[in-house]
Amino acid sequence: MSTKINKCVIIGSGPSGYTAAIYASRAGLEPIVFEGNAPGGQITMTEQIDNFPGYPEGISGFGLMEDIKKQALRFGAEVRNKVIKKVDFSKRPFVLETEDGNEVIAKSVIISTGASARWLGLESERKFRGMGVSTCATCDGFFYRKKDVAVIGGGDTACSEALYLSGLCNKVYLIVRRDVLRATKAVQEQIFSRENIEIVWKHKPLEILGDDSGVTGIRVISSEGEATKDIDVMGVFVAIGNIPNTDVFKGQLELNENGYIVTKGHSSYTSVDGVFAAGDVQDPTYKQAIVAAGSGAKAAIDCERWLMENPL
Ligand code: NAP
Repeated sequence: MSTKINKCVIIGSGPSGYTAAIYASRAGLEPIVFEGNAPGGQITMTEQIDNFPGYPEGISGFGLMEDIKKQALRFGAEVRNKVIKKVDFSKRPFVLETEDGNEVIAKSVIISTGASARWLGLESERKFRGMGVSTCATCDGFFYRKKDVAVIGGGDTACSEALYLSGLCNKVYLIVRRDVLRATKAVQEQIFSRENIEIVWKHKPLEILGDDSGVTGIRVISSEGEATKDIDVMGVFVAIGNIPNTDVFKGQLELNENGYIVTKGHSSYTSVDGVFAAGDVQDPTYKQAIVAAGSGAKAAIDCERWLMENPL
């Protein structure tokens, strides 16, 4: 059991966590980053990022996170490939516990645990997870080369997944519950220009169809609930938004009705002094890598100033 009192612990390793680590290490806070279950965060699943400044040719989500992580390491941040399973924010210094039962003591904590893909909640979706149902085209698209697949959702994530899959698959059905896409205009235009993407407007998934070999199709119902139809596909990619990763903080911090960490005004201060939040875990609105990175910088600055006033 470690008794060292760390100045700053960062939980989570997406754009916000690693950016907080750059700022915190440059400020001499000797941060330790706990990368969590998905090092680099959700963005590592995005094939191509074209809207992060500084990359005129675009970059993969994985490549972007590798670059930000390297920058944090360059200034001395320590990165541990561990998950924080438990926190006690009731007294200072704070006590955190890793999944293997080790305690970590921290004067301050920056939470940047991000968000995870939302599922439809269908029994058949659970049954065929890993057997044709996925939330990551970059990870699993390869298995559906020259096959037909469906993508559920009409936001930027669903459209990016559909675009990626259209380069690999024979046909991509994009199942959209309204008669408009939520995705940004530039992405919509790309979708409309792809010949092998068919948008199934105003339909919702009712059941994922399959057998022992995995997914064989998807049954959709019109949004008015009038008629169903079956579409033959071998893969179904669910891309209907995110839920914040805040289970471990329930009862420790103020969360809003959707589970996002509540931060004060424009700052990264949470309801507990000395605990800061950055990135998608506290942002139900923008959810962009660049915004998350900026909020990671803010959290590290807030943290540094707070530590100066509260040396403990
Ligand atoms: P989102 O913008 O919330 O879109 C979710 C989509 O799923 C919407 O089309 C929604 O339909 C649909 N949906 C939700 N629940 C559904 C259900 N039960 N059944 C069927 N459809 C359902 O989520 P997102 O696409 O994951 O994007 C999240 C944020 O990340 C956004 O701010 C987005 O701009 C950002 N993002 C950006 C990029 C990029 O810039 N490269 C890439 C990915 C994501 P309705 O429209 O009817 O609600």
